Amino acid sequence: MANEKTLDDLFLETLKDIYYAEKQILKNLPKMAKAAQSDKLKAGFEQHAEETEGQIERLEQIFEMIGKAPRGKTCDAILGILEEGKEIMSDFKGAPALDAGLTAAAQAVEHYEIARYGTLKTWAQQLGMNDAVKLLDQTLSEEIATDKKLTQVAEASVNQKAA
Ligand code: FE
Ligand code: FE
Ligand code: FE
Repeated sequence: MANEKTLDDLFLETLKDIYYAEKQILKNLPKMAKAAQSDKLKAGFEQHAEETEGQIERLEQIFEMIGKAPRGKTCDAILGILEEGKEIMSDFKGAPALDAGLTAAAQAVEHYEIARYGTLKTWAQQLGMNDAVKLLDQTLSEEIATDKKLTQVAEASVNQKAA
């Protein structure tokens, strides 16, 4: 039998992927905040944890729009990225370069999310799901803003401290 999967299927699979990823990220952010030495970085992680809760709610709204129960699907990519962050936390514990490493690890997470939300938004546009486009765009903007803030923290303080 021919494989008849379409963009709707791809959209749902990817929604499950990022839903799983966001939940893993939400679990991990308090650990990053606890590990961070700089108050600014700590506060940034705490703020993004709050935003992440809202992002999970947006995803749940989108599941509802398409008549599906919110369910995650294991994302090996985010597990790998978060694992690298955990390595930094333990290998650089107490070191001058800890915060620079945490910042870089967090940016890898944001870049994964930006890739996923960018794609989902484009597919939602193609599928004529205008309400979903709005929700995905809100989250995409938060991820981009977080990434920019992390770049600022890196350039303004943590990298010098690490050197
Ligand atoms: Fe997120
Ligand atoms: Fe994934
Ligand atoms: Fe994020």
